[in-house]
Amino acid sequence: MKNVVIIGNGIAGVTAARHIRKKSNHKITIISAETDYFFSRTALMYIFMGHMKFEHTQPYENWFWKKNRIELVKAYVDSVNTDAKELVLDNGTSLNYDDLIIATGSKPNKFGWPGQDLKAVTGMYSKQDLDTITHYSKDCHRAVIVGGGLIGIEMAEMLVSKNIPVTFLVRETSFWNKVLPAEESEMINRHIKEHHIDLRLDTNLVEILSDENGRAKAVVTDKGETIACNLVGLTAGVSPNVSFLKDSGIDLDRGVLVNRQLETNIPNVYAIGDCAQQHQAIGERRAIEAVWYTGRMMGETVARTICGKPSEYQPGQWFNSAKFLDIEYQTYGWVWAKPRENEARFYWEHKDGKKCIHINYDKDSKEFIGINTFGIRMRHQKFDQWLHEKQSVHHVLEHLKDANFDPEFYAQHEDEILAKFNLENGTDLKAKKKSWKRIFA
Ligand SMILES: Cc1cc2nc3c(=O)[nH]c(=O)nc-3n(C[C@H](O)[C@H](O)[C@H](O)COP(=O)(O)OP(=O)(O)OC[C@H]3O[C@@H](n4cnc5c(N)ncnc54)[C@H](O)[C@@H]3O)c2cc1C
Repeated sequence: MKNVVIIGNGIAGVTAARHIRKKSNHKITIISAETDYFFSRTALMYIFMGHMKFEHTQPYENWFWKKNRIELVKAYVDSVNTDAKELVLDNGTSLNYDDLIIATGSKPNKFGWPGQDLKAVTGMYSKQDLDTITHYSKDCHRAVIVGGGLIGIEMAEMLVSKNIPVTFLVRETSFWNKVLPAEESEMINRHIKEHHIDLRLDTNLVEILSDENGRAKAVVTDKGETIACNLVGLTAGVSPNVSFLKDSGIDLDRGVLVNRQLETNIPNVYAIGDCAQQHQAIGERRAIEAVWYTGRMMGETVARTICGKPSEYQPGQWFNSAKFLDIEYQTYGWVWAKPRENEARFYWEHKDGKKCIHINYDKDSKEFIGINTFGIRMRHQKFDQWLHEKQSVHHVLEHLKDANFDPEFYAQHEDEILAKFNLENGTDLKAKKKSWKRIFA
């Protein structure tokens, strides 16, 4: 029986613990500083908006941990001594391990802006951040959000839901245009403005000004403007939470460096989730993948290794999903902001300007490479299958209705999509009848 210690009770650490318990009798301890119990970080916004209570975001009942012999320690790990296999906690105690899993997630980026540590200046990552936003939103006359990514737009939606005027500073010339193609990015620009959010593209934060009590009172932008506000959200990306490891001898870059088996350079020390960085990115994926499902997959993988079945992290086809205010977004495979040399694109947008699909495929072979869908919900399993089978764009378009989650959508738009593709490409594709058998199989 080994003594396994996990730092971090997010999706990665908790998945590792659950799977180690399923497979073994090892002693398991999870140490985390943020909350007593695991909660779903992705649901933080819904607590603020009143759709859920914090308790509802906890996937397991509080008795679950004791019943499954997973010991929970609420503390911050100040340092790791890998020679002595010992952790030093901020409560003055220390803890030994045989196997250590680092699953410490991310922290919001701060780029040294003057005023970034003032009161009412906060990221939107932790339960504590949520508490800060809740507190300072009570008397907020205007909020400024800095950084136009997925978390920034969530924070904007949260504040707008409480009728707080929001100014959104986005460094790029169009929303999230390093990731989204121009068409989708512009659709989201329009949608943000429709929600009466004051979107300032191509605008950087220079400084946050303080009132006499040390609370933010305004931001200054690189356009020379001073915007009065008394809540500032810093949502300019996240980076791995690894600074406490700097003297540990564990190899770090931006994150904790790991191989495909999620092992660090130190025997019996592993890293998973947002804080892990692959030495060599896997295929087209990023070396650090700060998404929920990859944390879960890494947790399962490391559990197998620790329980005697050394396994490689195999993330499969890339997918992701998010919500931009009222517009749901899904992506499967690869649709880069700009097509590569060998790639062609097909774009269809509904006349309401809130639904679109964007397909990326190989110009010569016609192999399907990826799809973005906005405002339309598609079936993950279908796209995963088509990517795996290396299907052609023609096959995907002819069978698109098999991937459709929302038959009403296709009743209205299927012909239009195919007609547009046929017109642009001189093809004569015909929609194949929906295969219910395949959908329910
Ligand atoms: C607002 C928001 C919305 C999101 N929405 C989505 C989404 O829709 N889809 C998606 O795929 N992803 C989403 N993400 C990203 C996703 O939540 C993360 O990828 C995921 O939570 C990372 O899990 P993790 O287990 O690696 O780390 P975390 O969830 O960050 O957990 C790590 C834990 O370790 C603790 N810790 C850190 N250092 C120490 C230390 N030294 N000692 C003790 N404890 C420590 C931290 O306090 C934290 O509790 C969202 C993130 C945020 C912030």
